[in-house]
Amino acid sequence: MTSASVLELARDLAAAWAPRVAEHDRTATFPEADMADLRASGLLGLLVPGHLGGLGGGFEDYVAVARTLARGNAASALLFNMHASVTGALALVPDEVATALGAPPSFFETRDQILARATSGAMYGVAISERTAGSRLSALETTYTREGSGYRLAGHKSTCSGAGHLDAYLVAARDSSATDDGPPAISYFLVPGEAIGPIDQGWDPLGMRATASNGFELETWVPEDALVGVEGVALLLAEVMPEWLVGSYAAVYVGVAEAALCAAVEHVRATSVREPTTDGRPRLVGLGASPWVRQRLGRADAQVQAARLTLEEAARHVDSNRGHPDTSRWVYRAKLLAGDTAFDVAASLTEACGLGALMRGAELERLLRDARCGAVMPPSSDIAANVLGASALGVDPGDGLGARPW
Ligand SMILES: Cc1cc2nc3c(=O)[nH]c(=O)nc-3n(C[C@H](O)[C@H](O)[C@H](O)COP(=O)(O)OP(=O)(O)OC[C@H]3O[C@@H](n4cnc5c(N)ncnc54)[C@H](O)[C@@H]3O)c2cc1C
Repeated sequence: MTSASVLELARDLAAAWAPRVAEHDRTATFPEADMADLRASGLLGLLVPGHLGGLGGGFEDYVAVARTLARGNAASALLFNMHASVTGALALVPDEVATALGAPPSFFETRDQILARATSGAMYGVAISERTAGSRLSALETTYTREGSGYRLAGHKSTCSGAGHLDAYLVAARDSSATDDGPPAISYFLVPGEAIGPIDQGWDPLGMRATASNGFELETWVPEDALVGVEGVALLLAEVMPEWLVGSYAAVYVGVAEAALCAAVEHVRATSVREPTTDGRPRLVGLGASPWVRQRLGRADAQVQAARLTLEEAARHVDSNRGHPDTSRWVYRAKLLAGDTAFDVAASLTEACGLGALMRGAELERLLRDARCGAVMPPSSDIAANVLGASALGVDPGDGLGARPW
């Protein structure tokens, strides 16, 4: 159960972000002031253990906080999600699992430094996606090559929330020396902010505009300790512990769905329509008197609660049964339902509310565009559903006509 004080912090942040959200959405600019609030709040250390100065939260805490933040500015919440994916993956993998995977003793010292920096306000991003690979780790073209006492990284990342604004980026790259046989060796590196670039400035998407998810060039050398964890295990981690690569987005998009329902209720309460009458004297009635509008609110309410409960069930499984196939299925269900629900609900409610909710600057119009991004974020709804369908059939999702998620 998330502590009341942590939720209070998240609510305060969401309230501070809300007045700025429309302008950042309009200009597709990085929300500097939102992120300054976030750094000052201490929530960047949400998942960092107490002995390193953090709040010691788990996945359930992350989910509750991210959902709440999304009510203020979904794009800012998505930036928080990227940071939480880095700190959470590092903090919540048990030491014995990291050791069993082959992590050297030096990893734990580096990990603790990365986590401690987060409690002092360092913010991290994630740079996996590439133009033709999307987020499919096995298809990445960015390479790493051993050079001296470190690695040379080279490639181009197409989409990275907060690119150019953050302290460091978790970059996924393939081993340039690997042969064509067998699965590619994909590793993660934490690359300092000053080592990336030049940054592309072409980010001008439909929704989640304030994430400023520009791409960047990468041609840099990093020391040995920039390698995060164990070399070559990124694909394995994505398959056995999908909570950060898959499940964390779900919290943001359940928050978007909740925000859409709230915005629609406000819109309906504030709107009246003229009702034709048989006596020729139309009368003004509240939009909430319409059963056609109310049933859309009712369906949205049921869909939002179903997505929220699935998300919370997934989070409980992650915290109590990490790495289990059942947990993985719950995480995929949560991601699928969150992305699809956010968009279904926002689309239906804008239809219920009419053109007023679709004008530029209307809250629902922005949420509809933000919600559209949920199903696209990795793994897409189609890919998540294929994983679940294959699991129901007891077959590998990569067999037959399906696509491997990673
Ligand atoms: C708001 C936002 C923020 C983002 N932030 C980040 C970030 O911080 N870091 C980051 O790394 N990425 C980020 N991304 C990128 C995101 O991860 C990608 O959008 C995602 O990986 C999918 O890539 P794509 O959009 O290029 O689609 P594609 O991968 O090109 O997919 C397009 C379609 O083709 C299908 N498809 C593609 N390949 C196959 C195949 N082999 N088999 C079957 N079907 C296939 C897909 O299912 C989909 O339907 C962000 C995206 C958004 C929208």
